[in-house]
Amino acid sequence: MSHRSGRHFLQIPGPTNVPDRVLRAIDRATVDHRGPEFGRMTLEVLEGLKSVFQTKQPVVIYPASGTGAWEAALVNTLSPGDRVLMFETGHFASLWNKMATRLGLSIELVPTDWRRGVDPAAVEAKLEEDRAQSSKAAIKAVCVVHNETSTGATSRIGAIRKAIDAAGHPALYLVDTISSLASIDYRHDEWGVDVTVAGSQKGLMLPPGLSFNCVSEKALKASKSAKLARSYWSWDEMLANNKTGYFPYTPATNLLYGLHEALKMLAEEGLQNVFARHARHAEATRRAVRAWGLEILCSVPEEYSNSLTTVMMPAGHDADRLRKLILEAYDMSLGTGLGRLAGKVFRIGHLGDFNDLTLAGTLAGVEMGLELAGVPHKKGGVLAAFEHLTESARAPSRKVA
Ligand code: PLP
Repeated sequence: MSHRSGRHFLQIPGPTNVPDRVLRAIDRATVDHRGPEFGRMTLEVLEGLKSVFQTKQPVVIYPASGTGAWEAALVNTLSPGDRVLMFETGHFASLWNKMATRLGLSIELVPTDWRRGVDPAAVEAKLEEDRAQSSKAAIKAVCVVHNETSTGATSRIGAIRKAIDAAGHPALYLVDTISSLASIDYRHDEWGVDVTVAGSQKGLMLPPGLSFNCVSEKALKASKSAKLARSYWSWDEMLANNKTGYFPYTPATNLLYGLHEALKMLAEEGLQNVFARHARHAEATRRAVRAWGLEILCSVPEEYSNSLTTVMMPAGHDADRLRKLILEAYDMSLGTGLGRLAGKVFRIGHLGDFNDLTLAGTLAGVEMGLELAGVPHKKGGVLAAFEHLTESARAPSRKVA
């Protein structure tokens, strides 16, 4: 492979670009994971994570990708044959459903057109029907993906909580925030979520390899009687060891030093500023897409994702050919179309360690790539985005990202 000058643009919707501060924190001699220095650092990480999840509840950290934390959420709270309500909002919601089915749960899957989030009214209707049919409420959990990384559509987690309450239903509420945590506003406690699932490689700006369960008291209580087989994923031993800053098995020591630094960076910027930065970059990206005359896959404006934008290709044009040309010509990786969207869409990731000029470079690469690939489009997307960036940078209260 020959050397390419300049930094690679990693504009897939995760893993995201890892900031130098985090890389430097990881790049150190591995320490004794049962020693005093490591224990002190872990306690700070466990405390710092709470502010990111907006919770007072415990957060469990696994040395695993996000898929592991999905499994942990299910096996700690449910029993074989339990009924679970899921919504097929996209590729990742489908994979979580596949996992739940393999684990022996009985899934009620509500389909969608993969262009929107979960409809809170549908949640309420399904749960009311369940209560009317069985006196003891057969549905044990409702699973929702907050930000569907395959489609760029978010679900309204607070509104879904209200729908569950309106139905007066006792189901646990399990939410996947793998591509929204630390990018899009998310409130574990306020929204009454029982298990929040997250991963390290997106808004938290780390390499892949860590994942999380934030656990409510109700979920902890459910774990005492849940019968699905579990050992590695068990919360009980993890939480007992975490009290003093340790783990029941070897943790990913160096990644945890990286997490310690990433949490400091998020606190320095301020979580609300992090959300505002993502919202502003997402809006600028959508203006670029519209100016190109292309269509955004998400069809419900209030459910647009702030961490990525999924763009539909004009009929007869292959998204993966465009992505390949952009990678070869401009050294930028864009997200591929997943599942039924393969070849039909490309995804622009604008989350994590990302600023105005990263966005400028990203959109310039897309616009030049559209031209190079002969994809029908109008010029001016980049300019439309710049206009939004400069107008919003002038707003008196705004700190430029
Ligand atoms: N859920 C969502 C929303 C995701 O975006 C991903 C991965 O991108 C996953 C789950 C699976 O996580 P992982 O690939 O880290 O196992």
